Amino acid sequence: MGDKKSLGLGEFDLIAKYFAPLSVGCEGALSLLDDGAVLDIPEDESLVVSTDCMTEGIHFLEGTAGKHVATRVLGANLSDLAAMGATPRWIFLSLQLPKNTPKNTNEYWEDWLDDFSTALGSGLDKFGVSLAGGDTVTTLGPLAVTITALGSVKKGSALKRSGAEVGDEIWVSGTLGDAQLGLEILQMGDDAPNDKNSNFLITRHHTPEPRVELGKMLAQIGVVNACIDISDGLVADMSHICEASNVTAEIQLSNIPLSSAAKVLLDYDPTRVHKAAFGGGDDYELLFCLSPENSEQLNLLKSKTPFCKIGKIGTISEKSQNKGHAVKIVDPKGENVVVESGGWDHLK
Ligand code: ADP
Ligand code: MG
Repeated sequence: MGDKKSLGLGEFDLIAKYFAPLSVGCEGALSLLDDGAVLDIPEDESLVVSTDCMTEGIHFLEGTAGKHVATRVLGANLSDLAAMGATPRWIFLSLQLPKNTPKNTNEYWEDWLDDFSTALGSGLDKFGVSLAGGDTVTTLGPLAVTITALGSVKKGSALKRSGAEVGDEIWVSGTLGDAQLGLEILQMGDDAPNDKNSNFLITRHHTPEPRVELGKMLAQIGVVNACIDISDGLVADMSHICEASNVTAEIQLSNIPLSSAAKVLLDYDPTRVHKAAFGGGDDYELLFCLSPENSEQLNLLKSKTPFCKIGKIGTISEKSQNKGHAVKIVDPKGENVVVESGGWDHLK
């Protein structure tokens, strides 16, 4: 089904031109010329697989450059593998390209694919990952890009959401809320400020940094009880750990890490910054729990991860009888902060 010729280049020419180069070095990808890929992992490892789909108008603004779509969808996928402690190895890429509209010509799509595949290639190189296959179709709907990422982890050491225990410390990497603040700046269109801090926040939205090295180290030290990546917002993702582990969480407002760009905004619009830090999606930082007895191991790890700071933000508590929110944020006076945004849920 589908008129595959409507993008100018035929499907197979398109794959050969833009995508086969990203499979070079991966023998099992069979140059993207066969019906499937043939992939091996070491015998003592488990395969970890995750998939994420992003659509134009929902996950990224209409007309977003190909390079930004590539880094975001790749970042989201590799972040899921990082949250499991896996080493990423291969991705599969499915593209649903809108049939030509008067606005978007064949040339438009060829330029878009060039930009997209170049950025995807750099992202793959950076993490030592190969493109091993995919599918390319046209659609009457909006552009949609799906990546399935495959990685591997030593048997029995994958990080999960379900093991947080009462008394555990809650830790987070990087800074929170930047991607959401960056999106809000982009949404201002022509009125968007163009200064160093705004550009930093926009970059955090366009170019998430999946915490692959950190995730691998957390799996290796073997004392992390639960881990998740923050793709839906701190409160929503912390709630996922709480539900899976049957516990609650108390987070100290003053410990929530903010970038210096977000701190500048905090001075004159604290509500907006807090909302972004609690509920903004797409930061792709790692949120994880471990017993205070083992936190010394994290201090050692800190010196080995100069590429990404980590800090303690709260504690895991028992689940209370009266059903309140699973996640509490407490200000320096000990008072509960009202959490307006519970994060991103597509079906709500
Ligand atoms: P089939 O019809 O047997 O499903 P396709 O014609 O869809 O195979 O794809 C041919 C080859 O090209 C396969 O190896 C597939 O994995 C690869 N491929 C198709 N689209 C992409 C893409 N967007 N990125 C990477 N590989 C792709
Ligand atoms: Mg196919």
